[in-house]
Amino acid sequence: MWIDTHCHLDAHEFGGESAAQAALAREQGVSMIVIPAVETANFPVVAQLAASVDNGCYALGIHPIYVPHAGEDDLRVLREQVAAAMGDKRFVALGEIGLDFFIPMLTEPAMREKQIFFFREQLKIARDFELPVLMHVRRSQDVVLKHVRQIRPAGGIAHAFNGSFQQAQGYIELGFKLGFGGAMTFTRALQIRRLAAELPMDAIVLETDAPDIAPSWVHPGRNSPDQIPRIGAVLAELRGISVEEVASATTANAKQILPRI
Ligand SMILES: [Zn+2]
Repeated sequence: MWIDTHCHLDAHEFGGESAAQAALAREQGVSMIVIPAVETANFPVVAQLAASVDNGCYALGIHPIYVPHAGEDDLRVLREQVAAAMGDKRFVALGEIGLDFFIPMLTEPAMREKQIFFFREQLKIARDFELPVLMHVRRSQDVVLKHVRQIRPAGGIAHAFNGSFQQAQGYIELGFKLGFGGAMTFTRALQIRRLAAELPMDAIVLETDAPDIAPSWVHPGRNSPDQIPRIGAVLAELRGISVEEVASATTANAKQILPRI
């Protein structure tokens, strides 16, 4: 069995096929797909999609790319909807939240501050409800680590991890897991492949980030959650262990960090 810890199954790229994609993944042994929200407008969409398939669960949060259009009222809505969702067994985390210092528009000083404000306020909601966080970390590893250290949510995942060994260690010390997916399937991705091969096995979870970050054999096409076993096979090869070991370890890691699954 496998878990896709980060998949935007509600994305428009899937057209009307989101449920069919979940079923296809299930046939490949993907027993759970975590669907993060990106803005308050799509909270009901991810909740309903997760409920409509056998192997779906969801997170609620405001993605850094959506912060420019968000207001403080969205944080109030988030807190209210998280409180309401605590009784829903498909609701598993706060996310997708984080900091993106790569996209130029998001790195202007005022927008940097707004991103940090939204990130910190969402970390506090996660802490208050003892929920893990699904984090988008792009050119912002050390700033993210600083705020997580200060606010201390109940763990989470640094998704699509692309930092240094030292930064990885920082997350691990805070009780976080690191998400690996399609990026490690490219032979030129030397640093990500070295991290995937050498980090402690109990720190690693698998993800697709579908429809994005397609693995090498799909690129530049649309990624999908049924790719998880083949992505897992790449991790097995990099680490010199069996595919079964990767499946059982990464599934156990995902369940440990997302205990509501
Ligand atoms: Zn994402």
